[in-house]
Amino acid sequence: MSPVITIDGPSGTGKGTLTCLLAERLGWQVLDSGAIYRVLGLAAQRLGYVLDDPQPLASLAGVLPLQFSDGKVLLDGEDVSDAIRTEEAGAAASRVAAHPSVREALLEWQRRMARPPGLVADGRDMGTVVFPQAPLKVFLDASPEIRANRRYKQLKGKGLDANLPRLVADIRERDARDLSRAVAPLRAAEDAVLVDSSQMSIAEVLDRVLEEVRR
Ligand code: C5P
Repeated sequence: MSPVITIDGPSGTGKGTLTCLLAERLGWQVLDSGAIYRVLGLAAQRLGYVLDDPQPLASLAGVLPLQFSDGKVLLDGEDVSDAIRTEEAGAAASRVAAHPSVREALLEWQRRMARPPGLVADGRDMGTVVFPQAPLKVFLDASPEIRANRRYKQLKGKGLDANLPRLVADIRERDARDLSRAVAPLRAAEDAVLVDSSQMSIAEVLDRVLEEVRR
Protein backbone atom coordinates (compact mmCIF):
# COMPACT_ATOMS: atom_id res chain seq x y z
CA MET A 1 0.00 0.00 0.00
CA SER A 2 1.18 3.55 -0.69
CA PRO A 3 2.17 5.57 2.38
CA VAL A 4 -0.71 7.23 4.20
CA ILE A 5 -0.76 9.94 6.88
CA THR A 6 -4.05 10.17 8.74
CA ILE A 7 -5.36 13.41 10.25
CA ASP A 8 -8.35 12.82 12.52
CA GLY A 9 -10.23 15.00 14.98
CA PRO A 10 -13.44 16.99 15.43
CA SER A 11 -14.55 19.72 13.03
CA GLY A 12 -13.03 23.18 13.22
CA THR A 13 -9.61 22.09 14.44
CA GLY A 14 -7.90 23.05 11.16
CA LYS A 15 -7.65 19.45 9.90
CA GLY A 16 -8.65 20.36 6.36
CA THR A 17 -6.12 23.17 6.07
CA LEU A 18 -3.39 21.06 7.67
CA THR A 19 -4.16 18.16 5.32
CA CYS A 20 -3.90 20.37 2.21
CA LEU A 21 -0.68 22.07 3.36
CA LEU A 22 0.94 18.77 4.28
CA ALA A 23 -0.09 17.11 1.01
CA GLU A 24 1.27 20.08 -0.92
CA ARG A 25 4.60 19.89 0.95
CA LEU A 26 4.92 16.16 0.28
CA GLY A 27 3.42 16.17 -3.23
CA TRP A 28 0.81 13.64 -2.10
CA GLN A 29 -2.94 13.26 -2.75
CA VAL A 30 -5.66 14.40 -0.34
CA LEU A 31 -8.67 12.44 0.87
CA ASP A 32 -11.34 14.69 2.41
CA SER A 33 -13.54 11.95 3.83
CA GLY A 34 -15.95 14.45 5.42
CA ALA A 35 -16.80 15.65 1.90
CA ILE A 36 -17.94 12.12 1.02
CA TYR A 37 -20.44 12.09 3.90
CA ARG A 38 -21.51 15.63 3.05
CA VAL A 39 -22.14 14.70 -0.61
CA LEU A 40 -24.04 11.61 0.45
CA GLY A 41 -26.22 13.70 2.80
CA LEU A 42 -26.88 16.23 0.05
CA ALA A 43 -27.70 13.56 -2.54
CA ALA A 44 -30.00 11.79 -0.09
CA GLN A 45 -31.85 14.99 0.77
CA ARG A 46 -32.31 15.83 -2.90
CA LEU A 47 -33.81 12.38 -3.42
CA GLY A 48 -36.14 12.94 -0.48
CA TYR A 49 -34.61 10.12 1.60
CA VAL A 50 -35.14 9.93 5.34
CA LEU A 51 -31.69 10.39 6.88
CA ASP A 52 -32.42 7.97 9.73
CA ASP A 53 -33.23 5.03 7.44
CA PRO A 54 -29.92 3.23 6.74
CA GLN A 55 -30.86 0.79 3.97
CA PRO A 56 -31.54 3.23 1.07
CA LEU A 57 -28.63 5.39 2.24
CA ALA A 58 -26.20 2.46 2.16
CA SER A 59 -27.40 1.51 -1.35
CA LEU A 60 -26.90 5.10 -2.48
CA ALA A 61 -23.42 5.17 -0.87
CA GLY A 62 -22.45 2.12 -2.95
CA VAL A 63 -23.18 3.91 -6.24
CA LEU A 64 -22.57 7.54 -5.28
CA PRO A 65 -21.44 9.41 -8.45
CA LEU A 66 -18.82 11.40 -6.54
CA GLN A 67 -15.57 12.78 -7.94
CA PHE A 68 -12.81 14.99 -6.56
CA SER A 69 -11.46 17.01 -9.47
CA ASP A 70 -9.12 20.05 -9.50
CA GLY A 71 -9.98 20.89 -5.91
CA LYS A 72 -13.71 20.67 -6.67
CA VAL A 73 -16.24 18.17 -5.38
CA LEU A 74 -18.54 16.87 -8.11
CA LEU A 75 -21.84 15.05 -7.63
CA ASP A 76 -22.88 13.46 -10.91
CA GLY A 77 -20.72 16.06 -12.68
CA GLU A 78 -22.26 19.04 -10.82
CA ASP A 79 -19.91 21.21 -8.75
CA VAL A 80 -21.31 20.96 -5.20
CA SER A 81 -18.17 22.28 -3.44
CA ASP A 82 -20.07 25.22 -1.91
CA ALA A 83 -23.40 23.45 -1.40
CA ILE A 84 -21.79 20.84 0.89
CA ARG A 85 -20.12 23.44 3.15
CA THR A 86 -23.27 24.80 4.84
CA GLU A 87 -24.06 24.02 8.50
CA GLU A 88 -27.13 22.06 7.30
CA ALA A 89 -24.98 19.89 5.03
CA GLY A 90 -22.62 19.25 7.96
CA ALA A 91 -25.52 18.16 10.14
CA ALA A 92 -26.90 15.90 7.37
CA ALA A 93 -23.41 14.38 6.90
CA SER A 94 -23.19 13.60 10.59
CA ARG A 95 -26.59 11.87 10.49
CA VAL A 96 -25.84 9.67 7.47
CA ALA A 97 -22.38 8.89 8.88
CA ALA A 98 -23.96 7.39 12.00
CA HIS A 99 -25.14 4.25 10.09
CA PRO A 100 -22.69 1.30 10.13
CA SER A 101 -23.91 0.02 6.73
CA VAL A 102 -23.26 3.42 5.15
CA ARG A 103 -19.71 3.53 6.54
CA GLU A 104 -19.07 -0.02 5.36
CA ALA A 105 -20.27 0.85 1.83
CA LEU A 106 -17.76 3.73 1.65
CA LEU A 107 -14.76 1.85 3.03
CA GLU A 108 -13.28 0.43 -0.19
CA TRP A 109 -13.86 3.68 -2.05
CA GLN A 110 -11.72 5.48 0.53
CA ARG A 111 -8.99 2.82 0.58
CA ARG A 112 -8.65 2.98 -3.20
CA MET A 113 -7.51 6.59 -2.78
CA ALA A 114 -4.21 5.37 -1.29
CA ARG A 115 -2.15 5.60 -4.47
CA PRO A 116 1.49 6.53 -5.10
CA PRO A 117 3.26 8.67 -4.12
CA GLY A 118 1.09 8.86 -0.99
CA LEU A 119 -2.11 10.07 0.64
CA VAL A 120 -2.98 12.48 3.43
CA ALA A 121 -6.39 11.40 4.70
CA ASP A 122 -8.58 13.80 6.71
CA GLY A 123 -11.52 12.57 8.78
CA ARG A 124 -12.74 11.03 11.99
CA ASP A 125 -11.81 7.36 11.59
CA MET A 126 -8.91 7.48 9.14
CA GLY A 127 -6.40 6.14 11.68
CA THR A 128 -8.75 3.87 13.62
CA VAL A 129 -10.77 2.17 10.84
CA VAL A 130 -9.93 3.11 7.26
CA PHE A 131 -6.11 3.12 7.37
CA PRO A 132 -5.13 1.43 10.66
CA GLN A 133 -1.71 0.52 9.16
CA ALA A 134 -0.77 4.14 8.43
CA PRO A 135 2.72 4.80 9.81
CA LEU A 136 1.84 8.34 10.97
CA LYS A 137 -1.49 9.15 12.60
CA VAL A 138 -2.30 12.60 13.90
CA PHE A 139 -5.23 13.49 16.16
CA LEU A 140 -5.92 17.21 16.06
CA ASP A 141 -8.10 18.75 18.76
CA ALA A 142 -9.17 22.21 20.03
CA SER A 143 -11.81 23.47 22.46
CA PRO A 144 -15.39 23.85 21.14
CA GLU A 145 -15.31 27.61 21.79
CA ILE A 146 -12.12 28.09 19.77
CA ARG A 147 -13.48 25.94 16.95
CA ALA A 148 -16.80 27.83 16.88
CA ASN A 149 -14.92 31.12 16.88
CA ARG A 150 -12.84 30.05 13.87
CA ARG A 151 -15.99 29.01 12.02
CA TYR A 152 -17.63 32.33 12.95
CA LYS A 153 -14.74 34.29 11.44
CA GLN A 154 -14.80 32.11 8.30
CA LEU A 155 -18.53 32.73 7.76
CA LYS A 156 -18.25 36.46 8.48
CA GLY A 157 -15.26 36.65 6.14
CA LYS A 158 -17.48 35.28 3.39
CA GLY A 159 -20.15 37.87 4.22
CA LEU A 160 -22.47 35.14 5.57
CA ASP A 161 -24.77 35.24 8.58
CA ALA A 162 -23.24 33.79 11.75
CA ASN A 163 -24.30 33.47 15.36
CA LEU A 164 -21.53 32.51 17.78
CA PRO A 165 -23.60 30.91 20.60
CA ARG A 166 -25.53 28.94 17.97
CA LEU A 167 -22.25 27.73 16.40
CA VAL A 168 -20.94 26.61 19.81
CA ALA A 169 -24.19 24.71 20.41
CA ASP A 170 -24.06 23.11 16.93
CA ILE A 171 -20.44 22.03 17.42
CA ARG A 172 -21.21 20.51 20.80
CA GLU A 173 -24.21 18.67 19.37
CA ARG A 174 -22.22 17.32 16.41
CA ASP A 175 -19.35 16.28 18.70
CA ALA A 176 -21.78 14.44 20.97
CA ARG A 177 -23.21 12.53 18.00
CA ASP A 178 -19.76 11.73 16.55
CA LEU A 179 -18.43 10.63 19.96
CA SER A 180 -21.36 8.49 20.98
CA ARG A 181 -22.27 6.68 17.78
CA ALA A 182 -22.01 2.91 17.87
CA VAL A 183 -19.70 2.59 14.89
CA ALA A 184 -16.38 4.40 14.41
CA PRO A 185 -16.93 6.85 17.28
CA LEU A 186 -14.55 9.78 17.17
CA ARG A 187 -11.43 8.84 19.09
CA ALA A 188 -7.69 8.92 18.60
CA ALA A 189 -5.90 5.77 17.44
CA GLU A 190 -3.75 4.29 20.22
CA ASP A 191 -0.56 5.19 18.35
CA ALA A 192 -1.73 8.65 17.21
CA VAL A 193 0.27 11.81 17.86
CA LEU A 194 -2.05 14.17 19.78
CA VAL A 195 -1.91 17.86 18.85
CA ASP A 196 -4.09 20.51 20.55
CA SER A 197 -4.35 23.41 18.12
CA SER A 198 -6.30 25.72 20.50
CA GLN A 199 -3.32 28.02 21.05
CA MET A 200 -1.39 27.21 17.85
CA SER A 201 -1.34 28.85 14.42
CA ILE A 202 -1.76 26.57 11.43
CA ALA A 203 1.92 27.14 10.55
CA GLU A 204 2.90 25.89 14.02
CA VAL A 205 0.68 22.84 13.66
CA LEU A 206 2.21 22.08 10.25
CA ASP A 207 5.75 22.37 11.67
CA ARG A 208 4.81 20.07 14.52
CA VAL A 209 3.49 17.42 12.12
CA LEU A 210 6.44 17.78 9.71
CA GLU A 211 8.70 17.08 12.70
CA GLU A 212 6.90 13.73 13.03
CA VAL A 213 7.17 13.05 9.28
CA ARG A 214 10.96 13.51 9.45
CA ARG A 215 11.35 11.15 12.41
O1 C5P B 1 -15.09 16.85 8.42
P1 C5P B 1 -16.46 17.34 8.09
O2 C5P B 1 -16.99 18.40 9.01
O3 C5P B 1 -16.59 17.74 6.65
O4 C5P B 1 -17.40 16.06 8.28
C1 C5P B 1 -18.81 16.18 8.28
C2 C5P B 1 -19.39 15.06 9.14
O5 C5P B 1 -19.15 13.80 8.51
C3 C5P B 1 -18.78 14.94 10.53
O6 C5P B 1 -19.48 15.70 11.49
C4 C5P B 1 -18.91 13.46 10.83
O7 C5P B 1 -20.15 13.17 11.41
C5 C5P B 1 -18.88 12.80 9.47
N1 C5P B 1 -17.59 12.16 9.19
C6 C5P B 1 -17.40 10.89 9.66
N2 C5P B 1 -16.26 10.22 9.35
C7 C5P B 1 -15.31 10.80 8.62
C8 C5P B 1 -15.46 12.12 8.17
C9 C5P B 1 -16.64 12.79 8.48
O8 C5P B 1 -18.25 10.34 10.34
N3 C5P B 1 -14.21 10.11 8.33
